[in-house]
Amino acid sequence: MTIGIWILGDQLWADQAALASAANAPVIFIESHSHSTQRPYHRQKLVLVWSAMRHFAEELKAQGRAVTYQMATDFAPPLRQWIEQENITELRVMEPADRPFSRLLKTLQLPCPLTLVPNNHFLWSADEFKQWADGRNSLLMESFYREGRKRYGILIEGSPKKPKPVGGQWNYDKENRKPPKKGINPPAPQWFKPDAITQQVMASVAAVDTFGDLDSFGWAVTRTQALAVLDYFIHVRLATFGPYQDAMVTGEDTLWHALLSPYLNIGLLHPLEVIQAAERAYHEDDVPLNSVEGFIRQVLGWREYMRGLYTYVDEDYPSGNYFDHHQPLPEFFWTGDTPMNCLHQSIDQAKRTGYNHHIQRLMILSNFALIAGLSPQAVESWFHAAFIDAYDWVMQTNVIGMGLFADGGVLATKPYAASANYINRMSDYCKGCQYNPKVRTGDDACPFNYFYWDFLARHRNKLQHQGRMNFILKNLDKMSQEEYKAVRDNATQWRQRN
Ligand SMILES: Cc1cc2nc3c(=O)[nH]c(=O)nc-3n(C[C@H](O)[C@H](O)[C@H](O)COP(=O)(O)OP(=O)(O)OC[C@H]3O[C@@H](n4cnc5c(N)ncnc54)[C@H](O)[C@@H]3O)c2cc1C
Ligand code: SF4
Repeated sequence: MTIGIWILGDQLWADQAALASAANAPVIFIESHSHSTQRPYHRQKLVLVWSAMRHFAEELKAQGRAVTYQMATDFAPPLRQWIEQENITELRVMEPADRPFSRLLKTLQLPCPLTLVPNNHFLWSADEFKQWADGRNSLLMESFYREGRKRYGILIEGSPKKPKPVGGQWNYDKENRKPPKKGINPPAPQWFKPDAITQQVMASVAAVDTFGDLDSFGWAVTRTQALAVLDYFIHVRLATFGPYQDAMVTGEDTLWHALLSPYLNIGLLHPLEVIQAAERAYHEDDVPLNSVEGFIRQVLGWREYMRGLYTYVDEDYPSGNYFDHHQPLPEFFWTGDTPMNCLHQSIDQAKRTGYNHHIQRLMILSNFALIAGLSPQAVESWFHAAFIDAYDWVMQTNVIGMGLFADGGVLATKPYAASANYINRMSDYCKGCQYNPKVRTGDDACPFNYFYWDFLARHRNKLQHQGRMNFILKNLDKMSQEEYKAVRDNATQWRQRN
């Protein structure tokens, strides 16, 4: 019996389950260029994945593995050829993280059986998440996160029977919402000069007709480089990550954020090593608990929760449209060419780097899409094309669920909808904008304001069932008929123009 292993582009880790299951088995990588044109991807994401695949293939070769690296238009023909050439009798693949790819695997007609090895690139398996979720009235992230802290013994003290959170609190989020101060000085992010392999990939990606700049590519493409980014984050950025986690500053694309999602999502880093590195920084280097806990909550809490939920919800989750929104995506999402400075800054940054931090994604981009009534599916497709770390498993729950509430509240307890007030408090974007963040109607008015109130009014019936919206709806009720008409006219005119 000869086992062969097919390594997918987001499984680039020496201990991944399929590789670990057969120590000396030959492996194959396939760069499928037609797969990458089925929907648009950011140019830098194509470079990241293909360059990291080529580097990982070289590393495995250096360790003595028999490696075949194929560039092909499709997956099936090179697989069939390799299976026959190498006399492979069982093809092993680690379970794909994305459902569309799992479906694709079922359509391959191969000359030998294909075995799916359980994915060990997340902490929680789909079955474990199901056991946690089944029978619960609500799937609150906070309950899941606390369970994860106990399960993995992270920032936990006390006896195993009575585990307690280190510091006495489970969550330090209240200390992590500082607006940006004048003169803050975040450390420059760590970028890497493209080596010969990356340059070769960049040359081939230059011809792909898709979104995003190519020349500024500086992402890590090997595990060694990704570990260097992790180390730099832990020792230089983590201490200040917490307080300014939600801040947005012109010209500071990354502030104190980790920049780790691209590497976690393709297997260059494992979530447990990232979590444990942060925990060590608390115990050994006195890094403040609000920053350490805040970061660990992102990886052990949000990341695992989003993936668990993705495996738990029905296959039709991506088609959700709770608010029945159908406005097409405005052209400026592809160009960044809009007088709304917050959107201009965020989209321009996505074009240059493939990266926005969480609050830009949530409170600028998807908030605008939600209150302006853009089609959730068009918005999800855009997010998929715009980001270096975009994958189906992380995109569906974040965009359809968290960002747009298109799942009707499976994930979030209320929609993340906000007016210019929030953006003005948490960023410096409004200072450089032609609109006035304090004005609701008229030519000067910030579109986030009239869309926000229009959104609340249009969906009042649905929103009043979300308990946490009652206070806000009371403010809506105080609005005069005259002002509401002006709000609606502004919103309608904008939609007609775009
Ligand atoms: C609308 C929307 C779309 C998003 N799209 C993606 C995406 O395509 N890919 C992606 O990896 N993340 C996505 N996120 C989550 C989050 O914004 C990014 O993981 C984060 O901005 C990545 O940057 P960082 O590594 O500097 O993160 P940090 O802010 O430093 O956070 C640390 C880590 O926590 C994890 N994390 C935090 N929140 C989430 C979350 N909600 N879901 C999954 N992981 C999380 C990431 O691995 C991240 O690296 C999205 C969030 C929203 C609201
Ligand atoms: S005024 Fe409105 S559109 Fe302009 S930056 Fe502020 S929130 Fe964005």
